[in-house]
Amino acid sequence: MDELGNHPSISDPLGPRGVRWGGTGRRITLALIAVLVGANVALFWFSIQSIKLSKDQYELSAETHASNIAEAIKENLHSEFEKVDLILQGTAEEVRRQYMGARFDQRSIETFIDQVRRAMPQINHMLLTDAQGNVLFINGTQETHGITLSDREYFTAAQTNPPPGLIVSKLLVARYDGAPITAIVRPVKLGNGQFGGVILADLKANYFADVISSYNLGSEGMITLRDTDGALIARYGFQMGPEPEPVGGKWVTDKYLEFVASGKKSATMRTNQGFWTQRISTLRRMDQEPLVISVSVGTKDYLKGWDDQLISTAALDLGFLLLSIFTGIVLLRAVQRVETEKSKFRVARDMAESSNQAKGRFLANMSHELRTPMTAVLGMHELLLGTNLTAQQRDYVSKSKSAASSLLAILNGILDFSKIEAGKLELETVPFTLEALLQELSVIISSSIGDKEIELLYSVDPDIPAELVGDPLRLKQVLINLCGNAIKFTPAGEIVVAVDLVSRVNSSAVLSFSVSDTGLGITPENLEVVFQAFSQADVSTSRRFGGTGLGLTISQRLVKMMGGTLSVESQPGQGSRFWFSLSLPVGPMREETLGRPQKVLIVSRSQAARRILGEMAAARGWEFDVLDTVSKAADCLKPEWTLVLVDLFASTADDWKAYTKLCSVSPSTTLLGLLNPRQEETLQTSDTRMAFDALLVKPFTPGMLACAVEEAQKRTEGPASGLPLPPQRLTGLRLLVAEDNPFNQQVALELLEAEGARVAVVSDGTEAIQKVQEVKVPF
Ligand code: ADP
Repeated sequence: MDELGNHPSISDPLGPRGVRWGGTGRRITLALIAVLVGANVALFWFSIQSIKLSKDQYELSAETHASNIAEAIKENLHSEFEKVDLILQGTAEEVRRQYMGARFDQRSIETFIDQVRRAMPQINHMLLTDAQGNVLFINGTQETHGITLSDREYFTAAQTNPPPGLIVSKLLVARYDGAPITAIVRPVKLGNGQFGGVILADLKANYFADVISSYNLGSEGMITLRDTDGALIARYGFQMGPEPEPVGGKWVTDKYLEFVASGKKSATMRTNQGFWTQRISTLRRMDQEPLVISVSVGTKDYLKGWDDQLISTAALDLGFLLLSIFTGIVLLRAVQRVETEKSKFRVARDMAESSNQAKGRFLANMSHELRTPMTAVLGMHELLLGTNLTAQQRDYVSKSKSAASSLLAILNGILDFSKIEAGKLELETVPFTLEALLQELSVIISSSIGDKEIELLYSVDPDIPAELVGDPLRLKQVLINLCGNAIKFTPAGEIVVAVDLVSRVNSSAVLSFSVSDTGLGITPENLEVVFQAFSQADVSTSRRFGGTGLGLTISQRLVKMMGGTLSVESQPGQGSRFWFSLSLPVGPMREETLGRPQKVLIVSRSQAARRILGEMAAARGWEFDVLDTVSKAADCLKPEWTLVLVDLFASTADDWKAYTKLCSVSPSTTLLGLLNPRQEETLQTSDTRMAFDALLVKPFTPGMLACAVEEAQKRTEGPASGLPLPPQRLTGLRLLVAEDNPFNQQVALELLEAEGARVAVVSDGTEAIQKVQEVKVPF
């Protein structure tokens, strides 16, 4: 939110309900439209192809049908002509016979013709000419005078170049009755073999109409019979114009004439009649006769099945298109709804983020505001404890300081937890050494043991790379918490902090961290809740041990942020083990200097300590032996042992006596006492202290042990001076402190001066810079 309390997203120009057609929504929509359009185009293309293909098939079959009908008509006419021919031949024979016998009698010929005509009633007339073409007789009439047929094409053909079979004429107008006819002619040979004229039968045009009308071609089908000049002899079926073409009409197209001129036997042609209608026509020429049969069919008939297919395909396409549009609309609406939801979500997220930021700022302020006075309170206690107090006053101040420390711990816990919850906690990635981390941890946890009889040990895998990369501060925080709990819930016993190398691949190592104790343990049902915030194993815990129930929750979240999982196993009365593994980048391996070789005697009442100390000795290449009591050690110690590590854990009164004895047995052997801080305090005032060449507070790392041994041996070899007293640690230093809180200024000033430093105090960074520039002797 800004200073006026407006939420940034509310002033978004799109408003909370605005749909942003960008990003995913737009991509999905475009993809959707593309898919639907693509699918429709594909379907449409496929439909057109299949419709085209099927139309071709329909047309092909219409062509075949028309051509078959034309062929059938041709065959039919041909056989009719042959029948007529038989009659003509018979008649010609009769005429010839009568001539030969010189008894030619028109009446008997007529009778003969009447008889044969009965067998073939289609024949209209039969007539006979002489060799000059003069008509000798026509059946049914005496009127033959002056009728000559010598100029007829068929006559000339019969006279000059008679074909082997009969001659069929084109359409003619009969000279004897004016009717349109087709003449079927045969030459007549006389007894001497000379041309004696022709015998002719005519067929009326309506005869042919009968022949062609027996074929079914549908409502638009049409059959015509024309002569090669195009004159119509007969037609049947569909009529193109309002008037029917008369017999003898020549309503033919150029294509027809071209066909006749080409001399081809058959041809198929398509003619368009308007947008939808088309005709398929087959032309077939008779083999001998000057006649052409035309059979044509119309789209309405031959594309009937195809029309249905076209309609169903179009319906399918249309259906799919509508479905696509519907699907598109539904999906678009869905995408739109998602976008709207997303935009609402963005607004909500922005609001949450801004409130989170406010929370973060509040937390940062709270951290500072709470910790500053607490630091002052604790500092003042520290200063107060440094003054002359009566025993009672010292007791009150110590208790007050301890209460203030607990309060600070609780505050820290709550602030850390809130910070993690708000997502404000960020991890560092810096190089660090495990050795330094464990040393710092040692200082912190050893001091919290109090006067408990606890064996506090580090077991560190010697193969762990010296340099690691990660967040040492947060890792230490987790370990402090786990060790703190272990100490809190272990009245007496052992606590082992173990770090092992699980694996190492190239530049990273997987380390396993564990903290085990032999304390109270946790019941199985409580194990389930220990990682929940503000939960403690049982209600009496906070009364008995304090705490907030946040430590494990914070630790678990931190471990998770570092890429691991915090786990626990525990047996009530036996102890608990908390562990986690982390994969950390590692720095280059460093060769460790092993120092001088040692022959070591390890003395400890704790089995775990004997094992761990043995491992440390072995890792440094030391020869070693282990014993459980000091008295045994004192009995068998020989001068060749260079070092005795004496663990003061669970020392008995006899042990305390034996330590001095141990020293006297072999004065050249370095005696290193391993103890906890409370024991160190006790030893300050005891003679036993002098028996040891050096003391080392537990827990310690292998590095700390090696250092302590070296220090002690240097001292043993040099002039004996006993253990040195701690000097003022900051003597000779000039320090500048920048602190705004006056109480804390005082605390810092007095604590630092007590350590021998010369201190100047300013209240902020600007003043600090000024101060640094002003002074002659640098800080
Ligand atoms: P607290 O501040 O109470 O220690 P934690 O989250 O650190 O909160 O621990 C939660 C509870 O888990 C503790 O109150 C205790 O009951 C149980 N617990 C944690 N560590 C141990 C342990 N090492 N031994 C026994 N109980 C433990």
